[in-house]
Amino acid sequence: MISEARLPRPVAQAIDELSKLPSIGPKTASRLVFYLLKQPPAQAEALSAALVSLHARLDYCAVCHTITESNPCAICADEQRDHQQICVVSEPLDCYALEKTGQFRGVYHVLQGEISPVDGIGPENLKIKELIDRVKDSRPSITEIVLATNPTTEGETTAMYLAKILEPYKIRITRIAHGVPVGGDIEYADEITLSNALLHRQQFISQ
Ligand SMILES: [Zn+2]
Repeated sequence: MISEARLPRPVAQAIDELSKLPSIGPKTASRLVFYLLKQPPAQAEALSAALVSLHARLDYCAVCHTITESNPCAICADEQRDHQQICVVSEPLDCYALEKTGQFRGVYHVLQGEISPVDGIGPENLKIKELIDRVKDSRPSITEIVLATNPTTEGETTAMYLAKILEPYKIRITRIAHGVPVGGDIEYADEITLSNALLHRQQFISQ
């Protein structure tokens, strides 16, 4: 490991800040810093400006809680979307991934995390109360809630929890199907993926 005591202060500081980011250790952080030092100053300036504008120019949508430059976000403000159909996701990035498919015409609700007792994250730490309020206040009322949390223990726990607390509202609750990834080999798929794929199998040729 590099002894930061001998490094010039700005270098040590930059390494220290970058090391705080997920999956970046001190080694990667110093490689990034020395890379930036070799580049024209404009590159580091552009990076720092982009990072500063993250908080300066972004906000959370008051309706769906995704990150947005305008409030409400473009999707919530779009009258062409089906506002009676809500797709519940864990993180803002999930909205972008689903939007890329072009298959969903409803609106979203971002929980900003998933229930994870190990990490001390309970339902009260997520935007669940806000989802219930949305369901209660919606006119016309919500017709379907698509649970699109991750196919992980935390994601499944969150989906089960939501299905239970949404039950009294008599809404159609659906869960996205999980299965073998396209281009994947069955022999390499893990047990949970394979059993989910079997469980959610569909009619192949209609008879
Ligand atoms: Zn929104």
